Amino acid sequence: MEFRTLGRTGVKVSQIAIGGEYLEGKSFEVCRSIIAHAMDNGINFIDIFNSNPDMRSNVGQILQSYPRESFVIEGHLCTAWKDGQYCRTRDLDEVKFFFEDLMDRLQVSFIDIGMLHFIDSQKDFDSVFNSEIIEYAKQLKSEGRIRSIGMSTHNPDMAFLAAETGLIDVILFSINPAYDMLPPSDDIELLFKDSTYERVYEGIDPKRSRLYQFCSEQGIAITVMKAYAGGRLLSAETSPFEKALTPVQCIHYCLTRPAVAAVMVGFANVSEVDAALQYLTASSEEKDYSAVLSGAPRHSFNGQCMYCGHCAPCTEQIDIALVNQYLDLALMHSSVPDTVKNHYDLLPHTAGECIACGRCMENCPFGVNIIEKMKQAASLFKH
Ligand code: SF4
Ligand code: SF4
Repeated sequence: MEFRTLGRTGVKVSQIAIGGEYLEGKSFEVCRSIIAHAMDNGINFIDIFNSNPDMRSNVGQILQSYPRESFVIEGHLCTAWKDGQYCRTRDLDEVKFFFEDLMDRLQVSFIDIGMLHFIDSQKDFDSVFNSEIIEYAKQLKSEGRIRSIGMSTHNPDMAFLAAETGLIDVILFSINPAYDMLPPSDDIELLFKDSTYERVYEGIDPKRSRLYQFCSEQGIAITVMKAYAGGRLLSAETSPFEKALTPVQCIHYCLTRPAVAAVMVGFANVSEVDAALQYLTASSEEKDYSAVLSGAPRHSFNGQCMYCGHCAPCTEQIDIALVNQYLDLALMHSSVPDTVKNHYDLLPHTAGECIACGRCMENCPFGVNIIEKMKQAASLFKH
């Protein structure tokens, strides 16, 4: 495993790390197999945005097998668990309660990076940075209960604002080639060169480019989420480049952006850990993503579900991310596969229960028309 320095924190982290999303809803044994396999192969870094109490407790119990100094935790402030669902909160009492819950369930005396969770709009930014929440984060840092303050966002503008405060040492940001691409007609100055291959690839969004450079200059580390774009880049059918990228190529793309310290990969099983670990032994040819990207039509991922779950909570307790996942799986086939239908049928709340209140859409960072998706799923799965 290659380790990178997490910017000005000075902490050494494995360049491939564990994202928490797919540990949720898994049994203790499955969580343990994934985390143990990752740790046995040198991964020492884990992001836990999750507020799910079972998942937090499982991870805490598993991490007890390792000395505290041997792993690094990105743990999120401002996530809460209400009525059996994840949600964001900017209520200081709730922020405090769920931070204590995180510490208790993880059974740790400190969190390496206390991440201010999911700040995608100016309103969101103000509700954290111009409120008692940032003071609380600073207090936790002064007490040593968190060692650095970080922030997670999908919006380069908000990432930039946070970086400029001087308070933030780590930004968890969504990066993959699909998000970064611009049409070829864009300003030549915005093109970037990949030092590994010494050739020009595609244009990168200027705001993103400036963000990566600024973070690099300031010693602010970027940790990456959505490196596979929710799995879409791994399939020719769903990739906007009309060819599949491999996990190795996606990881390499992220690790070759300035300021990136680690890619947080959501592992659903041990095989997916192995697929990411292949990066460590991959040849330059295997890492090279240029053949896939070059000449491919440019698309935006805006409007496509990434299964991130940020739209929760749903008024009717629908697991929107899962419904969208089953819907997309079904739509890849000419008729709905039985396995997908069976999984959908077992959901406690299905798309047919959607009352079109629109609450979820305010929370979706990817502009997904969730109400339309629920209608589509209800019609396809008949409830
Ligand atoms: S609808 Fe939006 S917020 Fe919800 S899972 Fe999909 S991308 Fe994430
Ligand atoms: S619009 Fe539908 S899916 Fe979204 S929160 Fe309301 S009931 Fe839930």
